[in-house]
Amino acid sequence: MHHADEAGARSRDSEQRRALDAVFDYVDRNAQDFVSCLMAYASHPSISAQNIGIDEVAHLLKERFLAMGMTAEILPTKGNPVVLAQWNRQAGAPTVLLYGHYDVQPPEPLEAWTTPPFEPTIRDGRIFARGIGDNKGQHFAQILAIESHLKVHGKLPCNVIFMLDGEEEVGSPNLPSFVLEHRERLKADLVVTADGSVHPSGTPIVQFGVRGLLNFELHVHGAKRDVHSGNYGGVVPNPAWTLVHLLATMKNAAGEITIDGVYDRVDPPSARELEAIAALPVNVAGLCEELGMTQLDQPQERGYFERLMFHPTLTINGLHSGYGGPGMKTIIPDSAFVKCDMRLVESQTPDEVFALVVKHVARHAPSVEVVRLNSMEPSKTSIESPYTQNIVTAIERAQGKRPLLYPVVGGSLPDYVFTKTLGLPAFLIPYANSDQANHAPNENLSIDCFLKGIKTGAALLACLFDRDVVGSST
Ligand SMILES: [Zn+2]
Repeated sequence: MHHADEAGARSRDSEQRRALDAVFDYVDRNAQDFVSCLMAYASHPSISAQNIGIDEVAHLLKERFLAMGMTAEILPTKGNPVVLAQWNRQAGAPTVLLYGHYDVQPPEPLEAWTTPPFEPTIRDGRIFARGIGDNKGQHFAQILAIESHLKVHGKLPCNVIFMLDGEEEVGSPNLPSFVLEHRERLKADLVVTADGSVHPSGTPIVQFGVRGLLNFELHVHGAKRDVHSGNYGGVVPNPAWTLVHLLATMKNAAGEITIDGVYDRVDPPSARELEAIAALPVNVAGLCEELGMTQLDQPQERGYFERLMFHPTLTINGLHSGYGGPGMKTIIPDSAFVKCDMRLVESQTPDEVFALVVKHVARHAPSVEVVRLNSMEPSKTSIESPYTQNIVTAIERAQGKRPLLYPVVGGSLPDYVFTKTLGLPAFLIPYANSDQANHAPNENLSIDCFLKGIKTGAALLACLFDRDVVGSST
């Protein structure tokens, strides 16, 4: 950079810091009020699995967005509606699409809660309520971040689209069609989701991808009924053996999946990804102790995070055949079946991998029936995205800590609707404490995490599109 450019960048940078500090001050001054507002919000149940309170909470959100000066609508889907809010008064400025979900898990078992799930209560610096961490406290922090910018500066540093799903806790069945149908209205430069938990040490994290998922069953049919293993032993084929032999052709003892072609589209980790995972803390011995195991799965030489992030898996979820009760029962069972899931990595697709499974089974055990269950595409945004540095800077400014970068997490979320359907980079930035007990009784969100979340949301709006970010905060 030329000296003049550099000086200009530095002065814009310090101007941006002053503007953001004013927002942080506003958050500090209003912290108590923000906590009260969140508690009021979390007192309204919105349980998608039980169809309780959904429309009421969608309306509450719409009213809140309108009161802040955003446009807001409740858009129907085949299931629960999506709340879509927008602020686009920075002509020509880039747009961030924020995603969250306003539905919550069922609160049962009620007797396991210290205080009732929809009567938010503060104990030991935490708010206890159903949905407080997953996901009301997290998207509400982003809403308050927007509100704080608007109160202090009368405008936002960039344009914002806020999309709130009402069915995440039941698998977002209508999200893919909603995003496809409304892709023109969802035009943005990137997607940010605040969901999940920070590292147990309290260190913030950024996630760039998720593995995909393919579920299937293999069914083996034998004789019409169970038969006597003596009178028919050696005569009637045993479906359990057929299944076991087939499974043995699908994965070997060295831990490799042996379905032809399954590794054709597995990309090796990049240098930058390897560098990121080398910085991630993990305690393998502690994990083994916690789970009562002596070693990790095969292959032994594979690194912990490489296993979770860059390799597909083939997992037997359940294996069923014949008699499993007390004593003995000398039969040849009439059938056998297995439930499997495969976690897929970026570049693999459930359709292609399922076709490989079908082909493999047809070659090795043609009489076996293959049944496809649900699936989800993998998703990955490059860790070398130009937004990465700006996100890191925003988190550092809000929390004073450098985040850990997770190129992929092992589980599956429908992030592909953003990366593949909309073609946008997508980032997951969790705000909740790691012991938030989401989906469980006594779900909680630490007030500290909530307030850090508001500041992080505010800093993201200020820093995401800033090409002049100079170094990082001190
Ligand atoms: Zn959840």
